[in-house]
Amino acid sequence: MVEQVFENAKVHFQCCRCGNCCRHVKEQILVEPMDAFYMARHLGCKDMGELYDNYTCPTLLQGLYPVFLMQVKGPDDACVFLEGGQCSIYEARPRTCRIYPFSINPNVLDGSFRTFQNWDQHEAHFTGPLISVEEWMRENFNEEAQAFLLTEYRMLPKLAAMLQQITQDEQMRFYSQVIFLHYFNYDLNQSFLLQHSANLEELKRRLERAI
Ligand code: SF4
Ligand code: SF4
Repeated sequence: MVEQVFENAKVHFQCCRCGNCCRHVKEQILVEPMDAFYMARHLGCKDMGELYDNYTCPTLLQGLYPVFLMQVKGPDDACVFLEGGQCSIYEARPRTCRIYPFSINPNVLDGSFRTFQNWDQHEAHFTGPLISVEEWMRENFNEEAQAFLLTEYRMLPKLAAMLQQITQDEQMRFYSQVIFLHYFNYDLNQSFLLQHSANLEELKRRLERAI
């Protein structure tokens, strides 16, 4: 269950580092381009391809748009980065993990964000000290992450709609371009955000030409 919370709210939360939220996560953790970029840097990958090849699985969102999901391991389908009950890439963990126990829903019209608290079964979460939602978000959802998410929410529905307007043969041909431009075409030594916007704009131009 999720419930909207406001920035000025304070909610009870504590983490006892049991690692349970990193288990049974098969097909649940989306690895967005910004996640992959910082994970690749953190792990010293030579490029984005090395990260996707070793730690993610590709799939199609709603049967149409290519996305990458975190690989899992072991009988409890634990995240590939869970080691000894701890996150082995804690400083570079994906946004979904970073903002937990909250989730975010952007408003693409005014650029604001709605925050939701995830109410799950782990009672330790709700017996801890009060934390400020505003401070949590400031620490874990920075300006770059906000700009990235707004760009994704503004562009992806347009790109998916354009993909639906072309023939299935052309869609298959475009998947390799979507995967390259949206996910792979990043220089890890340059800043992320400008490369991301440029890649999506280029993808939009190519799709417009194909329609
Ligand atoms: S957030 Fe909750 S489930 Fe995850 S490690 Fe902490 S206490 Fe365990
Ligand atoms: S990346 Fe880290 S925090 Fe996120 S699910 Fe994997 S082990 Fe857990």
